[in-house]
Amino acid sequence: MPWWDVIPKIAFFNNVLPKEEQKAPLTTQELTEYLQKARELSLTLEDLRTIISRTSRKDALKFCQVASRIRDELRGRILTYSRNIFIPVTKLCRNACFYCTFRRPFVQRGREFISEREVTMLLERAKKLKVTEVLFTTGERAEYRYKNAMKWLKTHDFDSTIEYVYHLGEKCLDVGLLPHINAGALMEDEMKMLKEVSASMGLMLENVSVRLTRKNEVHHAAPDKHPRYRLETHILAGKYGVPWTTGILLGIGEAADDVARSLHVIKTIHQRYGGFIQEIIVQNFQPKSGTVMKRVSPPDPEYVKFIVALARCYLPREIGVQVPPNLNRGHEVDFIHSGICDWGGVSPLTKDHVNPEMPWPREKELYDISVRSGFVLRRRLPLYPRFVASKWTSERVWETLERYKLADEKGFSSK
Ligand code: SF4
Repeated sequence: MPWWDVIPKIAFFNNVLPKEEQKAPLTTQELTEYLQKARELSLTLEDLRTIISRTSRKDALKFCQVASRIRDELRGRILTYSRNIFIPVTKLCRNACFYCTFRRPFVQRGREFISEREVTMLLERAKKLKVTEVLFTTGERAEYRYKNAMKWLKTHDFDSTIEYVYHLGEKCLDVGLLPHINAGALMEDEMKMLKEVSASMGLMLENVSVRLTRKNEVHHAAPDKHPRYRLETHILAGKYGVPWTTGILLGIGEAADDVARSLHVIKTIHQRYGGFIQEIIVQNFQPKSGTVMKRVSPPDPEYVKFIVALARCYLPREIGVQVPPNLNRGHEVDFIHSGICDWGGVSPLTKDHVNPEMPWPREKELYDISVRSGFVLRRRLPLYPRFVASKWTSERVWETLERYKLADEKGFSSK
């Protein structure tokens, strides 16, 4: 079935319906049946739709318990994270999402992109701190919108942002660091190029709802956020076998049904393209001053935990579920008990440029929280152990992995 067929045409926006039209909570018998199907990892899209729109707050906890048990059975009591640095290659972006403060509409002349010298200095410091992952993030297609961005690239002998990112990826590999590249929606030649120098890559799907691109909706001014381009990029990643991180963003105006469809599309593409997705980030929207959505409330943490649990119950076992710890301070233990297995990248050196107001926890804090909850905390590489075990990388990346002995015998970080 092509991907456009897995996006159903129905748009049942339960959370914006008048009260009298909202659906009744699950009956005890329905709840028992769905919990059983969740335990067996056999929920269907229709089940998921019903569960998301009809589970009461109290019953949501039962799905969290099931998800937590599934995670234990699949992975043991191990939580992971990656020690990384975050390099924003450019903050210019042709899109303007209503919640974003990463994007800068203007930058000082000559500062359109981070310089190679700055990157070299960051890599040197990262090496000293035993970092293994370098997260490169860019605004999308800056040179399509900003003449000065194109000028900067041409002056430095690059034709596009992607070419520059590729060059920086090579620099990382040369010094024994592994790039994880988030460069937005990509075209086929760009995916092929970046795959060579990426240990892993990622793109937040965010949501498959086309409605969110309409007037007054969050992605109206963001052409690259049209679900079609996000999905095409996921499909290209699958086609070229890139270890892949995807994600959904909660609290941006999505309906219950949109979340169900987004998880379903992720599952479908993953299965069709041989299991290339390593993890899904379940990210909660955070209101930021200076944005269109500054007064919009963030999603209820209970809702986020519930969706985390459903992601664990619905997605194939090999896909890890991650929440960013800096966006969920004080709720870490609850997320562990909702089925997560990973905390994502945590940096001892750089800030989270997407959420600069929310500092990373120190690794020691994550360690203590994990141990107190009965888990071992392991440091992983940007690509998950199963990709290391099956040598699921380009030759170039594998050469760096071997030369610098970055992985231990189980595929975790050896540093
Ligand atoms: S979220 Fe990404 S695509 Fe949207 S404006 Fe910010 S940098 Fe651009």
